Amino acid sequence: MSVKQKIFKMIQVFDTIIIHRHERPDPDAIASQCGLKEILKESFPDKQIYAVGSAVARLDFLSNMDDIEDKLYENALVIVVDTANIERISDKRFNNGKKLIKIDHHPNDDFYGNLMWVEDQVSSTSELIVQFYLDFSDDLTMSTEAARLLYAGIVGDTGRFLYPATTPKTLERAAFLMNFSFDASKINQELTSIPMKVAKLFGEVYQDIRVDENGAAYVLLSAKTLEQYQLNDSQTSPVVSLPGQLEEVLSWVIFVEQPDGKYRARLRSKGPIINKIAKCHGGGGHLLASGAIAHDKAEIMEIYRKIQEVVKEWKSEKS
Ligand code: AMP
Repeated sequence: MSVKQKIFKMIQVFDTIIIHRHERPDPDAIASQCGLKEILKESFPDKQIYAVGSAVARLDFLSNMDDIEDKLYENALVIVVDTANIERISDKRFNNGKKLIKIDHHPNDDFYGNLMWVEDQVSSTSELIVQFYLDFSDDLTMSTEAARLLYAGIVGDTGRFLYPATTPKTLERAAFLMNFSFDASKINQELTSIPMKVAKLFGEVYQDIRVDENGAAYVLLSAKTLEQYQLNDSQTSPVVSLPGQLEEVLSWVIFVEQPDGKYRARLRSKGPIINKIAKCHGGGGHLLASGAIAHDKAEIMEIYRKIQEVVKEWKSEKS
C-alpha cells in the first residue's frame, strides 16, 4: 500500500481531523491547509474538520482559522501540511492527537509523524493536495471553495508560474481547478495587489539594493525603515521577489530587522543553490527559496559573502 493510500485510510478512520501548517504562513500554507479542510468537509460531512494556527491579516481573503479547545485533540488525527521542520509548526498542540501525518513539498530534513508524504520536486503543497484529490476522486469531493484555495496556493508558490518548480503537471492541476466556478482572475489580483506604503518601500528596495559583478544581491530593511513606512515584517513579503526582476541579479537575500534585533534572512535564487547557506544559519527551505536568521550585522555579511561565492562558482561552471 502506498503512503497516500495509508493516509487516505487513516483519514477514513478518524471522526476528528485537525490540520496545521507553518508559522508566518504564505498563501500555499493557508491554501493547502484550508483546501484540504474543504475537501474533507465536503467528502465526509459527519466528520469534524478544523484548520488551526496563527492568522495573518493580509491573507484573510483566503480563509480564517478555527479556534478549538484542547480536548478536541484527544481522539484526533492531526495533519501538518507544508512544514519541513517541527519547530516551525504553528500551534504547538500538533503532538496531542492520536496520530500525526506530514504532507509537504520541502526537502525532507526533519522526519516526523506516523505517516509522511513528501515530494520536494512538486511546486507547492497545494499541488500535492490536488493530486491527492485526483488519486481518490471516487471517494472525495472537490468543492468550488477548495478549488479556489488550491489554485491560490499554486499561484502563490510558483510566483504565478514563474519559478522553475512549475511543471506541465502543475499547469494541468491548475487547469483542472480553473474548471470550477471561482474567479481566478480575482485571486491573481488579490495575491499581487499591494498597499501604497508597500509600493513606496519597493522604491527604497530598488534604490538600496547592492549587486556584485556576478549577480549576487542583498537588501537590508532596518527597523527604522519599517517604522518609516509603518510596516511590520509580514507586510514586507511582497518585496522579496523584487530583486529577481532585475536582469543583473542571479541570487539575492533580503534581511529584515526583527523587534529582537536579529535579522530574518530571506534567500532566493534563479539557479545557484542557496538552501545549504540557509541551513548553516539556523534555517532551511527549498534549493532556490529559503530562510535563515542573522544574529547581527557580521552574520549578515557572512551570509551575503556565501551567496557571492555560490553565485561565482555557479557562473564559472556555466561558462
Ligand atoms: P521565507 O523567506 O520565509 O518565505 O522562506 C522561504 C522558504 O524557506 C519557505 O519554504 C520556508 O518554509 C523555508 N524556511 C524559511 N525559514 C526557515 C527556517 N527557519 N527553517 C526551515 N525552513 C525555513
